[in-house]
Formats: sequence, structure tokens, C-alpha cells
Amino acid sequence: MSDCLFCKIIAGDIPSSKVYEDEQIFVFKDISPKAAVHLLVIPKIHIVSLDNLTPEHQTLITHMMLKLPELARSQGLDDGFRTIINTGPGGGQEVGHLHMHILGGKGMPGFN
Ligand code: 5GP
Ligand code: ZN
Repeated sequence: MSDCLFCKIIAGDIPSSKVYEDEQIFVFKDISPKAAVHLLVIPKIHIVSLDNLTPEHQTLITHMMLKLPELARSQGLDDGFRTIINTGPGGGQEVGHLHMHILGGKGMPGFN
């Protein structure tokens, strides 16, 4: 956990472009955007991936999901957005702290 990039971003040890924060989640702009809007939504507690969820995370995950449309709208994505969650090496996950991508606007990529 102490070596986790996203935990360091939450702590402010590594700078980021923060978009939203509350007691449970932190939201910031992806450093290498794949579309005009590219946000990362992360839990403040360190969870590696969807593979590491337990029933005690139910409220947190629901909170993250319910926030997505509001966050997308706050970035001007009024007619929809794409959500991606990569899990494990086989799913293309590069950072081992659970994150939901929000993508939209010009240049939004396909699935591959
Ligand atoms: P993954 O491939 O794990 O689903 O996505 C990780 C994402 O984190 C990538 O889109 C990558 O651009 C982004 N990322 C990696 N390092 C940093 C960083 O230091 N700051 C920010 N804001 N994004 C990062
Ligand atoms: Zn972490």
C-alpha cells in the first residue's frame, strides 16, 4: 500500500488534477487521456481490483457507481459516457489500486 501510486495521489504526495473528492472517493484527470474527457474514480481505501472486493465494500462500490453520471456531466458529457474497469494483468490493469475510467467527448476510443 505504501508503494501505491494512487494512494500517493490521494495523500497529495504526487500531484494530480483533482475533479472531485468526498469521504469515500477521489476523482482526478488521467495523466495520459485517451479522449477529450478522461477521469479516474478511485476509492480512498486501498483495494487492488474488482478481484479483491468483499461484501463489506458494497456501500463504497455503489457510491462510486452512483457518482459516475454526475461526474461525467460535470465535465460536459451531457449525452453519455463510457466506463471502463480493467482487472488484473489479463484485463490490462496497470495500476494496482481499483479505478473506474470515465471517458467521453472527442477521440473516444473503441474497445481495443
Ligand atoms: P489501467 O490501465 O490500470 O486501467 O489504468 C491506469 C491509468 O492510470 C492509465 O490510463 C494511466 O494513464 C493513468 N496513470 C498512470 N500514472 C498516472 C499518474 O501518475 N497520474 C495520473 N493522473 N494518471 C496516471
Ligand atoms: Zn492504493
